[in-house]
Amino acid sequence: MIMEHPENDDAYKGLKVNKGVENVPTVNPYLKKRVQRKQYTTSEFVDGILKGNITILSQAVTLVESAKYDHQLLAQEIIEKCLPYAGNSVRIGITGVPGAGKSTSIDSFGMYLLKQGHKLAVLAIDPSSERSKGSILGDKTRMEALSREKNAFIRPSPSAGSLGGVARKTRETIILCEAAGFDTVFVETVGVGQSETAVHSMVDFFLLIQLAGTGDELQGIKRGIMEMADGIVINKADGDNVDKAQLAAAQYRNALHLFPLAESGWSPKVLTYSGYYNLGIKEIWDMVYEYVAFTKKNGYFEHKRREQSKYWMYESINDTLRDTFYNNPAVQANLMQTERMVLDNEITPFVAAKRMIDLLLNDLRKK
Ligand code: GDP
Repeated sequence: MIMEHPENDDAYKGLKVNKGVENVPTVNPYLKKRVQRKQYTTSEFVDGILKGNITILSQAVTLVESAKYDHQLLAQEIIEKCLPYAGNSVRIGITGVPGAGKSTSIDSFGMYLLKQGHKLAVLAIDPSSERSKGSILGDKTRMEALSREKNAFIRPSPSAGSLGGVARKTRETIILCEAAGFDTVFVETVGVGQSETAVHSMVDFFLLIQLAGTGDELQGIKRGIMEMADGIVINKADGDNVDKAQLAAAQYRNALHLFPLAESGWSPKVLTYSGYYNLGIKEIWDMVYEYVAFTKKNGYFEHKRREQSKYWMYESINDTLRDTFYNNPAVQANLMQTERMVLDNEITPFVAAKRMIDLLLNDLRKK
């Protein structure tokens, strides 16, 4: 006999268990199926870019950044077709340690340039972005005024792969931006590592943002960054800091005297400014354009761009060879064992290297 539960008795009414609320669906039934993005053809991409269509430009940059083989093929086709329309910009590398005021400055530099009728693309090379998950550079919120402007295109650093890979993608993105009509391109990087060299190899003018009284002066000299700089600008020359900034500028000028004259024939200038209060911005851009006029006249501008193209050709060959080697199955199957033999002094590193290369070449010949 089934016992009637006492709680179901009328006397227990207050304790009666209600039916409860039905579970909310975990999937939103109203959400439309994700619309498939239209896949443009190469010529649609190129036409869109040449017309300055930012949506299409962004999608093309995404292809450049993609690691997928078919994306890369399409990207290379687009780049090749855009190449005749590229090159007509002034490319400026901007570096400085975190906190130097790069984003604040790029915001004010950018607004100044837009007012002069320029179109500006802001790109970034941030090799740490993969580690920190999400780029610290190029983030739109860092350049508040600029990010609302239709004549400014801001793109965070590509995050995949080695510094060389990231840099190559940025260089290819420059070409697309130029074809889309951007006449000024900034390439920003954090001044803490090798990335300056990569940026230096793709820009016309290298601008180093420094602060007064942080001891960076000497660090800059040690790391050779000062030797790369075409202009050194001391930020935060405002309020109580003006005197210190001017003193720092004098120290930099003295230090620069010790360097031999650059191949460009240009003597780097040192200026003070305030990115935050918009002071001294015009002088910085007068300097950049003076440099451009000077180096165009003496032929260095064109010479440097040609040298950079040559550099990137060899970089690209090196990258491809490296990838082919390390991704080869025969190499992968034997590399660890060969390494062990070297560690155990069974063969010399040179013999080991030759064996591995021969293994690759033989494997490729078979194909
Ligand atoms: P980034 O890390 O190099 O991009 O530097 P930010 O642009 O984020 O600036 C770092 C800090 O310095 C922020 O708190 C800014 O407000 C401040 N800052 C930037 N430029 C100036 C300036 O010209 N004057 C002063 N006083 N502060 C500034």
